[in-house]
Amino acid sequence: MAKKDPRSAQIQEDMAPGSLTLVGFLGDDTRSYEAIIQQDEAIFQKEGIEIDQVVKALKKLTFKGVDGLGEPVDVGDYEVSVDHFRGWLYCPFKHKKKVSKRNTTLYDKVTGKTIYWSDLSLHLIEDHHFFQGKGSHFRMEPETLIEVLRLEPLDEK
Ligand SMILES: [Zn+2]
Repeated sequence: MAKKDPRSAQIQEDMAPGSLTLVGFLGDDTRSYEAIIQQDEAIFQKEGIEIDQVVKALKKLTFKGVDGLGEPVDVGDYEVSVDHFRGWLYCPFKHKKKVSKRNTTLYDKVTGKTIYWSDLSLHLIEDHHFFQGKGSHFRMEPETLIEVLRLEPLDEK
């Protein structure tokens, strides 16, 4: 667990609706963003899954979906569509990171589940292990990710 960020209160504030984005990052979750990160990390740890596995799988699917230019692309068990919008979004963790507005929707034909993420979601997961608050539009549940992405623990070296 990383040590407490001295700008933590400001970060928490920027994650509220209407600050950096209209809908915010916390949904109706009443936990601090630090608690959300810690508890999601614990779920992955318990399942033996590295968050890096999630990031790799999501990036690969976005990459494949880009070819469809907004139309769904068939990728094995999935249908992927990628929508690109004008403009930029800023990371709430205050390191001047801006990410283009691109959303990926993944329909899993096997489980019937749909998940979606933005490039900012990807950045938040990759660099901050932040899957957003419950009720947030882009919240990704660790259990759903593991199921839909068919993630298995890596072999112990
Ligand atoms: Zn960031």
